[in-house]
Amino acid sequence: MSALLLDGRQFAQELKGELQAEIAAFKQERGIVPQLVVVQVQGDSASERYVRSIRKLCDNLDMSFRLELLPADVPQSVLNETIATVSADASAHGVLIQMPLPGHLSADQAVMHLDYRKDVDGVHPINVGLLAQGRAALVPNTPAGGMALLKRYGIDLRGKRAAVVGRSAVVGRPMALLLLRADATVTVCHSRTPNLAAVLHECDLVAVAAGRAGLVTGDMLRPGAVVVDFGINVRDDGQIVGDVDFASAVEVAGAITPVPGGTGPVTNVMLLRNVLTAARG
Ligand code: NDP
Repeated sequence: MSALLLDGRQFAQELKGELQAEIAAFKQERGIVPQLVVVQVQGDSASERYVRSIRKLCDNLDMSFRLELLPADVPQSVLNETIATVSADASAHGVLIQMPLPGHLSADQAVMHLDYRKDVDGVHPINVGLLAQGRAALVPNTPAGGMALLKRYGIDLRGKRAAVVGRSAVVGRPMALLLLRADATVTVCHSRTPNLAAVLHECDLVAVAAGRAGLVTGDMLRPGAVVVDFGINVRDDGQIVGDVDFASAVEVAGAITPVPGGTGPVTNVMLLRNVLTAARG
């Protein structure tokens, strides 16, 4: 093994310590506890696990947590009203619409009822637009965490060639914009990109969010490249693996995030950081 491991677990612990101190200082100064409200529609077991882990993290960091749980057959109008009501509630500083929503509901419609200043997932079109313009915005947690991890390890992105594999609204696209903001020269790849290996070979940094286990292998990388693997894939044997074939990539890369233990642990902490940012106004 040659690459430096970018340890997200260790970093998440550091971030939690910093955030807890900042939350305590905020309470002292303003006399209020920052509150996250999650709007969740019942019926998705992965969502239930995720929301439980967010609640636990809020408890650990002394942040207030409230769940608005809606039945699986909730009509769009009720979901929209719930989001609008929570958005107008001064005690709710951050509002998260838990995805995925059941098939009969439109996430695009729901998001339009959210106050963008409380949009701690960074999905409201105003936040997306602000990020695209390179202005201050609430940024999606997963790419924000990836960037924070790179910064923690002192990885300089200025003038570097970077590729992002994946163009989803929550990971790939915002990651590309964040890399651009950090002065990297960015190429965004997706399922229609011919010869992915040729693109990746030119890059000093490769960030992968494709949801395809082992899509990127060591032979596709430039020696010494920094690899950020956002992928979380559960294999048939229950093992969690990334979108990068770790065994081959670690021999070629200069630095790499493991899966599990890389970008994943940082994501939830970034969510709570956004709640504090939103509470500060
Ligand atoms: P999506 O399915 O929304 O997007 C996947 C993207 O990858 C699409 O843009 C797709 O292209 C592209 N893609 C798919 N196959 C290929 C291929 N063979 N070659 C090149 N590009 C390809 O996924 P998400 O962005 O939501 O998630 C991506 C991964 O990140 C998943 O494994 C998910 O579990 C994980 N994830 C991790 C988080 C974390 O905290 N680390 C948080 C959120 C997600 P196209 O647009 O053309 O279809």
